[in-house]
Amino acid sequence: MNVPLLDLKAQHRAIKAEIDDAVAEVMESQQFILGPQVQKCEQAIAQYSGCAYGVGVSSGTDALLICLMAEGIGPGAEVITTPYTFFATAGSIARVGAKPVFADIDPASYNLNPAQLESKITAHTRAIIPVHLYGQMADLDPVMQLAQKHGLVVIEDAAQAIGAEYKGRRAGSIGHYGCFSFFPSKNLGAAGDGGMVVTQAAQRAENLRRLRAHGSQPKYYHKVIGGNFRLDTLQAAVVSAKLRHLDDWTAARQRNAQRYHQLFRASGLSIANSSEYRIKGNGSPRVYLPETVADRHIFNQYVIRTARRDDLKAALQDKGVGTDIYYPVPLHLQECFSGLGYRAGAFPESESAANETLALPIYPELSEPQARYVVQGIAEFFSR
Ligand SMILES: *Cc1c(COP(=O)(O)O)cnc(C)c1O
Repeated sequence: MNVPLLDLKAQHRAIKAEIDDAVAEVMESQQFILGPQVQKCEQAIAQYSGCAYGVGVSSGTDALLICLMAEGIGPGAEVITTPYTFFATAGSIARVGAKPVFADIDPASYNLNPAQLESKITAHTRAIIPVHLYGQMADLDPVMQLAQKHGLVVIEDAAQAIGAEYKGRRAGSIGHYGCFSFFPSKNLGAAGDGGMVVTQAAQRAENLRRLRAHGSQPKYYHKVIGGNFRLDTLQAAVVSAKLRHLDDWTAARQRNAQRYHQLFRASGLSIANSSEYRIKGNGSPRVYLPETVADRHIFNQYVIRTARRDDLKAALQDKGVGTDIYYPVPLHLQECFSGLGYRAGAFPESESAANETLALPIYPELSEPQARYVVQGIAEFFSR
């Protein structure tokens, strides 16, 4: 059997006619830059996320970048975030000339641990970027309280978390900005790159719209320097068509996660939850399963944890099961950030997660026999 980590062709087969229509409509209109299709997509995503405004941009990375630009964050400023995330989170901070400052994660959720935050705040701190990793929201109440107390901007990196909820509120709707990515492997993927910023503030939305078109307003008059950060109209049309299916896909991902839990429980493997991973010694669990601590986990990834991660990954590959590591090197140990002066051991939770986590196939179309095959493969590996 072959079980890929992600099977986008299976998704496309199911909705091909709708996507073809959406693309054809843009081709007929020959309007490829902004226009009503982009506006429609912005309104739909804003509404889906419980936000007043959406501003379509060229990628999730540019969504983060443009928020930092809109707040005038640059040289001399510090922005606090997690080192256990995709590179773009901290890369964007560095690109505007500001300094990424890291705080360690909570091993239950793999998200920023709010208890680690306050000691990182200095007179130079301007913003916090919590990341909702794997599709589950970070613990935002304490983050927002700290931000309010110290006058900081909160930019949610919700690239993996569209539609996720924390205390009944959607990803992107709690901070001052929420950033989404439509990279094809995200739960709502375009046919290429794309992204969006959502916000509750009219003035912020207006600033973002100006910045994504070189800061020009009116056309060819520039009070500020922006860039070309527009969402392609073709991508907006594809995203709008796929948004109608997102809740069904999320439900299927959640069902697959539940199925994995049941199969792991029935497998005879010793298992525990991610928050218990410190149990060590004889009889320590072989595999730690992801834990749902926020309200609505949308399972962009289903990530298990094991001390024998690299060998397990190789064994599964031999059996035709695709897996991946998100992420093998925490950002404070990346070569390009060596100038920040962090050493190994600075963030022990992020570092051990980077050594032990493994993402299994969780895409909506994953079948029961496929899930069974994956868990059997893992049980066999540990029985050898
Ligand atoms: C995917 C991702 C991004 C970047 O999005 P792109 O659209 O690929 O630029 C940023 N942050 C996180 C956490 C991501 O997963």
